[in-house]
Amino acid sequence: MKKILILALSIIFSLSCGNANEIVAQTDSGSTNSNYWQQHVDYTMEIDMNVKSYQYQGKQTLVYTNNSPDVLDKVFYHLYFNAFQPGSEMDVRSRNIADPDRRIGNRISNLQPNEIGYIKVSSLKQNGVEIKHETVGTVLEVTLNKPIQPGEKARFEMDFDAQVPKQIRRSGRNNAEGVAFSMAQWYPKLAEYDFQGWHADPYIGREFHGVWGNFDVKITIDKNFIIGGTGYLQNPNEIGYGYESTEVKRAEGKKLTWHFKAPDVHDFTWAADLDYIHDKMQVPDGPMLHFFYKKTMPTENLQNWKDIQPKTVELMQFYNEHIGEYPYKQYSVIQGGDGGMEYGMCTLMLGMGTYDGMVSGIIAHELAHSWFQFLIATNEAKHEWMDEGFASYIEYLALNTIMNRNKENPFEYIYSNYYRLALSGREQPQSTHADRYDINGAYSIAAYYKGAVFLSQLGYVIGEENLKRTLKRYFDEWAFKHPAPNDFIRVAEKVSGLELDWYLMDWTQTTNTIDYKINAIQASGDKTSITMERVGLMPMPIDLEIEYFDGTKEQYYIPLQMMRGEKPSVDTTTVLSDWAWAYPTYSFSINKTRASIKTVTIDPKELMADINKANNKM
Ligand SMILES: [Zn+2]
Repeated sequence: MKKILILALSIIFSLSCGNANEIVAQTDSGSTNSNYWQQHVDYTMEIDMNVKSYQYQGKQTLVYTNNSPDVLDKVFYHLYFNAFQPGSEMDVRSRNIADPDRRIGNRISNLQPNEIGYIKVSSLKQNGVEIKHETVGTVLEVTLNKPIQPGEKARFEMDFDAQVPKQIRRSGRNNAEGVAFSMAQWYPKLAEYDFQGWHADPYIGREFHGVWGNFDVKITIDKNFIIGGTGYLQNPNEIGYGYESTEVKRAEGKKLTWHFKAPDVHDFTWAADLDYIHDKMQVPDGPMLHFFYKKTMPTENLQNWKDIQPKTVELMQFYNEHIGEYPYKQYSVIQGGDGGMEYGMCTLMLGMGTYDGMVSGIIAHELAHSWFQFLIATNEAKHEWMDEGFASYIEYLALNTIMNRNKENPFEYIYSNYYRLALSGREQPQSTHADRYDINGAYSIAAYYKGAVFLSQLGYVIGEENLKRTLKRYFDEWAFKHPAPNDFIRVAEKVSGLELDWYLMDWTQTTNTIDYKINAIQASGDKTSITMERVGLMPMPIDLEIEYFDGTKEQYYIPLQMMRGEKPSVDTTTVLSDWAWAYPTYSFSINKTRASIKTVTIDPKELMADINKANNKM
């Protein structure tokens, strides 16, 4: 998802700036330990759309494999469309939070019965036998007839009726840009069960976590509608609309059945409209990119949709090179008409923004989520900083070259947002559930910006080359899985040979802040003694630069003792003795006179997120 609430937060901050609270949360960092397993599901769905009533009927068959070591006596499904009803948790939360998402506000409370969203389950069978199920808001609670043993498969057959809500947020019908159907989180979706148990999160605001598997989806819809979405179209020559490889032969009748298959995914999303233009562009040695946008837009917007296509190719190539090869054969950029949101093999995004807004503001970010969210599928509700922060990190890195920003520190803006949050008194630990921040703005900055600083600053801690190797190894080891925070930091530890649990813990589970200070530069004969102080609670190793009046500079490095090692450094850097965290001050001496020293600066590149830069230089 794209950041949208920064402005709202800044307004609140200007009214209520206080001192930073250093709150320590008692939470686990999430560890999958050694015996990793994950559940598996095969979806088969047949959907019949009524484009006049915006209702659809579905038949769904799931073959669910219990790869866990546990006996399961219940399962849960998400019924996300039920959130778009007056009185739902999403509605009530939006009307009670201090800084509601303007796109939601009180809009849900005003929906009429023919405008709400719903998914009504009329029948559910386990292995051919009807089973007990209860719809509780956006979650279907299912009590099994027969528990599923470890290693066993169960077959669930469901009939359901659903209504597409008037567009409120992410999905829905007839949105502001006139897209007929944006169909995200639209089907009964099995909740994930993993080493931390069930994740039957209600749909309140954000976000998603799904079961890895395969989708076989048939969508029957009025034949004039054009569909883009997750999965490979199996019958392109019966459909046409730019998918065909040869002459198109459509069946008689008012409707067409689109047959998609999506292997090795954890979600399935689509959009449909009467007016889509469908363009394609090949990524060299990569997937085919598909673009779906409304032909009814003004000429300027249509031109933007042409101009973004080669940039999407460049972004795909950048991420392939810096993270790992995109493994699917297809990726689609689809005008969905509401913000930007990442989905399997596609994104749904606003279509009428500026060219720069579309590339820098949306596509660079949403495409990055194909790696950090879709392939490396962290639980977004529990570890929102891992998908939003990591996607933001690689997005800013990519844009620095692809959009010619050419900044020495591409993450300057990201750090500045984190500082604003850290100094606001509104910060909560990143280990807070994505729905349960006090205000939306605190979520946004913690997830996107503090999450991106986590990676950028890790480069400072372990060295840039080690960070690059960490990202690639993380992809190699964790694509098509559900890593937890500990899994990431273990990769960084193995790559760097350094102990890093302190970094994960202080940065993500607390609001401890970093503040190091130059206390004194004192002459002692021909030598000079430099004393520093650790003011903040969070430990860090220190890069230090001394500039002399003759114009020369020297680099020093003070290792943090609890890292049990040093980052690789260049020969010209002087590595000093360790600084152990509990000692508030640290002194060292150099063979230069006090009079020759112009300035001493902690972290001159400003890669360490020190909340008080004023005392970093003397
Ligand atoms: Zn995002």
